[in-house]
Amino acid sequence: MTKRTPIIGGNWKMNTIVESSVSLANAVASDLVGCGECDVVVYPPLPFLQAVHNAIDNSSIALGAQNMWYEESGAFTGETSAKMLKDVGVVSVLAGHSERRHLLGETNEIVAKKVVAGLQEGLQVVLCVGETLQQREAGETLPVVLSQVEEGLAGVELLQMDNIVIAYEPVWAIGTGKMATPSDAQEVHTTIRSTLAVLFDENISAKTRIQYGGSVKPENATELFSCEDIDGALVGGASLSADSFSAIVKAAINS
Ligand code: PEP
Repeated sequence: MTKRTPIIGGNWKMNTIVESSVSLANAVASDLVGCGECDVVVYPPLPFLQAVHNAIDNSSIALGAQNMWYEESGAFTGETSAKMLKDVGVVSVLAGHSERRHLLGETNEIVAKKVVAGLQEGLQVVLCVGETLQQREAGETLPVVLSQVEEGLAGVELLQMDNIVIAYEPVWAIGTGKMATPSDAQEVHTTIRSTLAVLFDENISAKTRIQYGGSVKPENATELFSCEDIDGALVGGASLSADSFSAIVKAAINS
């Protein structure tokens, strides 16, 4: 069986100010010194990337960005390119987070362009996918999620898949305190993995990491991480406390 290093991301969304972002980053970095094998990425708000980069520079924590635009430069007011992110030390970027899909109208086509642009710049891209409550209740979870995976990865070449992480985040579980049961989440994860075998090959399918996201906290993390195809988590609310975020990381290391 292929061993996959767990990956835990902390999506701070539109929270913190410079001072609190730096102290949160410092606290997470010191909690996790010598902690063991787990990739840990924090995704602060854009204006604080440089400050957080300075705070975690000599730690094992990596810097991520919550969003980017797919063009390299030019007249795109308010947008940020992959090259700009890289220039301030970003190594990972989220693409297709449900809040961007549903509040800001990002389509699979836009997400796919972001995925390609991020990979071309050498960034790790976390492709976020997930169904709404209405889609789940209509029995459409798997077709919706699989088409987001397929269309999101449409321009990705096999050799670039090393830099792809998939985050399965049921929309109804994000920020709501509700969570998919571990067996429901596992079912979606295993189906995503089978789809990767069809889109790419068995090796890619076995080694691509698939995170779960949606109200993950220290209390539910261990059970989730015990599922075979759940390789970590993308954490929103609980990543704003160093104690709870570090506890989730430790649960991933120990599972
Ligand atoms: C997220 O923002 O990706 C997320 C999963 O949020 P929360 O953990 O708050 O549900």
